[in-house]
Amino acid sequence: MVKYANRMNLQNGSEIRDMLKVLSQPEVLSFAGGMPAKEMFPVEKMMEAAMKVMKENGADAMQYSSTEGFLELREQIADRMVKKQGVKTDADHILITPGSQMGLDFSAKIFLDKDDVVLLESPSYLGAINAFKTCEPRFIEIPTEEDGMIMSELEKILDKEKNIKFIYVIPDFQNPTGREWSLQKRKEFIDIINKYEVPVIEDNPYGELRFEGESMPTLKSFDTKGLVVYLGTFSKILAPGYRLAWVCASTEILEKYNLMEQAACLQSSTISQMETARYIRDNDLDAHVAEIIEVYRKRRNEMMAALDEYLPKECKFTRSRGGLFTWVVLPEYMDAKELQKKCLERKVAFVPGSGFYPNGNVKNTLRLNYSTTAKEDIHRGMKILGEEIKKMLK
Ligand code: PMP
Repeated sequence: MVKYANRMNLQNGSEIRDMLKVLSQPEVLSFAGGMPAKEMFPVEKMMEAAMKVMKENGADAMQYSSTEGFLELREQIADRMVKKQGVKTDADHILITPGSQMGLDFSAKIFLDKDDVVLLESPSYLGAINAFKTCEPRFIEIPTEEDGMIMSELEKILDKEKNIKFIYVIPDFQNPTGREWSLQKRKEFIDIINKYEVPVIEDNPYGELRFEGESMPTLKSFDTKGLVVYLGTFSKILAPGYRLAWVCASTEILEKYNLMEQAACLQSSTISQMETARYIRDNDLDAHVAEIIEVYRKRRNEMMAALDEYLPKECKFTRSRGGLFTWVVLPEYMDAKELQKKCLERKVAFVPGSGFYPNGNVKNTLRLNYSTTAKEDIHRGMKILGEEIKKMLK
């Protein structure tokens, strides 16, 4: 009889597995994923970068390398952090990780003992919830509204709860809601965390994918006390297959991430790092990101127009100004899982929102992704979604 650790009881991957099975059918129109559009991957240019790396430093590229990561890449990242995110930093404050998902896993292991408290937005990213769960914390969900977390609710919890180890937030075009925090909320949030001196994990895979409006300062850019741990990634601005992301944090905190990475996997892939650094050296990454934005903006526009046309007025949805997702709130009596079954019968897939609430109990929300779907398919899919919702109206 094989005996597993208790933490395995907390990992419930079955819904995702079921969904992946459905999505593997080619005729299914999927709004369920969260993937970048693969036609936007710079395959040719990456091939050139890879050739140069292999010709010039092939053996080094195939060798082990340092845990903190390839210096040229850390310098390029630090430079982007200064220019794009307004964060005063340098290569010494960047640690390369194999994906932000690993950064989330390290965050859990660094900060959480069993029953410690994690505060997070309600709803929040399912992958983070699962990563944190392995350390068996208690989740306290902070209510949110269209422009971010409700700060008075956050303060109430901070006043009341002991053992809060960190607050996990996605202020830019959040997964799952597509929402963006207002400037006001960002400033209030920083004042609050400075007062209570709680660490913050700011997860920002989507911030550069802005379709409209002024760019917003990151929480990290306001951080004067070294409380904010910033997670960035190449997954959505370049390609997720390289598995490259980074942590930007104070010297003290970054050292903990470094130790955790050593213990978990030694380092991120040397060859991925060298090829990516070479790509950035030889190409204009900003111009590439601008091209991605153009494509996603059109798809977002189609999605918004289709939702306006087909959803009944009883539903609300986010007019995402960036990122990959929008979020639909159904009438309270509706169950998105029921709706999901009906839609799947008609070959349309989405993710019911319930998994994004770590403590469960919200049934009437769903996430829609628009980054990988063609214009006509967006309309066809939303028409079916709208029809099925209308059938369930009371
Ligand atoms: N955080 C959020 C909010 C995400 O949406 C994702 C990817 N879907 C990740 C982290 C993980 O990204 P990576 O590919 O860098 O591991």
